[in-house]
Amino acid sequence: MILMKTSVHALNLNHYDSEHFVEFSLELPTKCPCCGTAYSRSPEHANYFQESSGVMTAYATYFCPACGRCFFVVYLIQEDSPDFLGFPIAQYPTPSESTSFSQELSTLTPKFVEIYHQAEKAEALGLTELCGIGYRKALEFLVKDYAISQHPDKESEIVSSFLGNCIADFIDNKKIKTLAKASAWLGNDETHYVRKHQNYNVQDLKRFIKATVAYIDSELSFTEAFAFLNNSQ
Ligand SMILES: [Zn+2]
Repeated sequence: MILMKTSVHALNLNHYDSEHFVEFSLELPTKCPCCGTAYSRSPEHANYFQESSGVMTAYATYFCPACGRCFFVVYLIQEDSPDFLGFPIAQYPTPSESTSFSQELSTLTPKFVEIYHQAEKAEALGLTELCGIGYRKALEFLVKDYAISQHPDKESEIVSSFLGNCIADFIDNKKIKTLAKASAWLGNDETHYVRKHQNYNVQDLKRFIKATVAYIDSELSFTEAFAFLNNSQ
């Protein structure tokens, strides 16, 4: 992919007067973090600041005509580059893109969806030690709400059970059981002092949770189709 760059005049924050402009070459954002629309405009304003150590940071404000909101990108300037090239190091607000789940799953377990999206936000903010705990908590809601839907008479038992026991005792579909168990093992690594499965990380945990979701989704569709056929006879 070719990155779009633009040349901007940035005002110096060290000496705040209109005389102190420097021309930078900034990498342009490819989409708006507020609405996700493709983006190719130059910034509305830019400033820069030079620390006593010489490190130079540029700040650019962009306006998205699609959603009418502004966003802000922080750049680290490569001083040895010929055109003062800036690489983006942070963006505000952080991109609001989140995984979408089916209506059926969102109805079954709204808390799972809410916690999963919060974990994604934590991950986007770079809170790597916290997002894993969030995904682990989301998994517990997913598994328990699904188990309750399958065994409504055991609700109080399911609610108070350990996640591992809930998976063993109340998840009947073998594939969902296997995926949920693997997710729980990796999820526990995110909450404990010692990591038992060194070769797996948060990305693997997310992969297993998404596969669990896919099987639960297909079970929900199957149940609906089964009821539809029976009621249409
Ligand atoms: Zn926008």
